[in-house]
Amino acid sequence: MKQSRMEADLYCIHCREESPFTITYINDKLKTICCTQCHHAIDVRLDLQKEFIQEWQQRLLSKPSRMTTEYRDDLSQFLFTLPIRLASKPYRLYDDIKKSRIIMRDFKDVKHW
Ligand SMILES: [Zn+2]
Repeated sequence: MKQSRMEADLYCIHCREESPFTITYINDKLKTICCTQCHHAIDVRLDLQKEFIQEWQQRLLSKPSRMTTEYRDDLSQFLFTLPIRLASKPYRLYDDIKKSRIIMRDFKDVKHW
């Protein structure tokens, strides 16, 4: 899961003036908008577990066509060998999952709008 931030000047209804806002995206989807002056934040409801699952489904589907062909030919064999294939880049896999867990933890108790 990927978290990115950008700054933008927007009108804040609490400060009653244009203020710098921090806008946070998760997997390129809007997650929070926060006024940097009064710290009033708007959190957009986003199911992070669903995002995590969809991201991994997309990753698996975008594997080289050889794997897609194997998947079509013999699903049980494909699934049996999948963990070994995923483990071929163990650090990257570990790092991606760790970052995703941190993002999910950070937004766990945020009240939704
Ligand atoms: Zn404000």
